[in-house]
Amino acid sequence: MKLLEERILRDGIVKDGDVLKVDRFLNHQMDPALFLEMAREWKRLYADCGVNKILTIEASGIGIACITAQVFECPVVFAKKTKTKNIASDVYTTSVRSFTHGTTYDVIVSKEYLLPTDRLLLIDDFLANGAALDGLIDLSRQAGATVVGAGIAIEKAFQPGGERIRREGIRVESLARIRSMDNGRIEFA
Ligand code: 5GP
Repeated sequence: MKLLEERILRDGIVKDGDVLKVDRFLNHQMDPALFLEMAREWKRLYADCGVNKILTIEASGIGIACITAQVFECPVVFAKKTKTKNIASDVYTTSVRSFTHGTTYDVIVSKEYLLPTDRLLLIDDFLANGAALDGLIDLSRQAGATVVGAGIAIEKAFQPGGERIRREGIRVESLARIRSMDNGRIEFA
């Protein structure tokens, strides 16, 4: 998506450790007009797929997911981070290894909000090694819901998550795919 690529080139900052900082428009300060265009693109890509719910993960997916849900005219649920080991019977739980922090944390979703009849679109800001998306897929499967596909804002295509998850049969639509960002220079796939 040209608009997002242009914005990444203008406002994105390449950090050490293959991290792209997009705090100016996506991860800290947020640009809802851009999010709306992104949501419309996912709506075009997933038209007629029967999406009835958006699922995302705390925290940085929430803003994009909310606007996407508005375009899809459906609710949005976010997997909540939890510090306590959650063994309650009324939640689905999974563990996610954080790319940016290098730690593992648990996320939960109440069983009330994910149903076997749901057709889910999974939304997140970045796709790197795929751990966050794996977590959302796992929660969806525990609920017996159908994963229609994933909508990712920025896929770092030089990292393995996207290729692996597509190979597993999940549809992944990334609006910007970065092929490399060596020496601070961003190139799109
Ligand atoms: P993965 O789980 O696919 O390895 O990484 C995806 C998650 O890590 C996203 O939810 C995102 O919050 C974070 N992440 C991964 N790579 C980057 C990056 O380059 N920049 C930022 N800001 N977040 C990232």
